[in-house]
Amino acid sequence: MASERTLILVKPDGVQRKLIGTIVSRIENKGLNIIALKMLNVTAELSKQHYAEHVEKPFYPDLESFITSAPVVAMIVEGPEAVSVMRMLIGATNGREAAPGTIRGDYGSSRQMNMIHGSDSVDSAKREIGIYFTDNEICSYGVALGDWVCAAD
Ligand code: GDP
Ligand code: MG
Repeated sequence: MASERTLILVKPDGVQRKLIGTIVSRIENKGLNIIALKMLNVTAELSKQHYAEHVEKPFYPDLESFITSAPVVAMIVEGPEAVSVMRMLIGATNGREAAPGTIRGDYGSSRQMNMIHGSDSVDSAKREIGIYFTDNEICSYGVALGDWVCAAD
């Protein structure tokens, strides 16, 4: 099982709704490791970099207004198959369609204001981590009880 890193954002609506702690808890309860974390304001330029694949889409102007409207909390989450495990915890894009038990399914009812971003592949994660974090902001550390939380299989 490959250990992976993924880029997670608590989006502006998650910060405004005081869901930072809830989202961090869900990640930690799953046994994944947070190895970098900071609050920042996403600029228009950063938004265009992050959402490069969506810049030409009709909804992009609304997405940029939303993601730049209040601070976000950016995290790097590490663990076995962290990219797909986080996407499962996050749920479908549209909160109205996301399954109960997922973060978006439990707290969201909007397609745009869906509280959390998670990279969609290992390659996207590498690109997005490079956009949000420098190497010296990443704290890779051993978890003392790690073998009990993330077993080999
Ligand atoms: P994700 O990977 O599940 O976050 O979804 P996408 O990569 O398809 O879209 C990126 C983000 O753009 C989503 O999380 C939403 O915040 C927003 N978004 C996606 N589709 C739409 C849409 O049709 N309308 C609007 N207003 N926002 C959207
Ligand atoms: Mg996406």
